[in-house]
Amino acid sequence: MKIRCLKCNDVIESKNLHDCISCKCGACSIDGGNQYTRIGGDPHYINLISENGTEKSLEETNKK
Ligand SMILES: [Zn+2]
Repeated sequence: MKIRCLKCNDVIESKNLHDCISCKCGACSIDGGNQYTRIGGDPHYINLISENGTEKSLEETNKK
């Protein structure tokens, strides 16, 4: 799982369970690799990026 920070436009990816990555500006973070993905920060400023490269707002995803 990758995410894009919409504040600094940084794309970050957590590759394993204890790999906690923050974006350049520190507004969002991702942890847990592919087994247990945990995303921190304001969902309004985070896009989810799927394997095929499609980006989707985390805020929209949480509404469903
Ligand atoms: Zn950022």
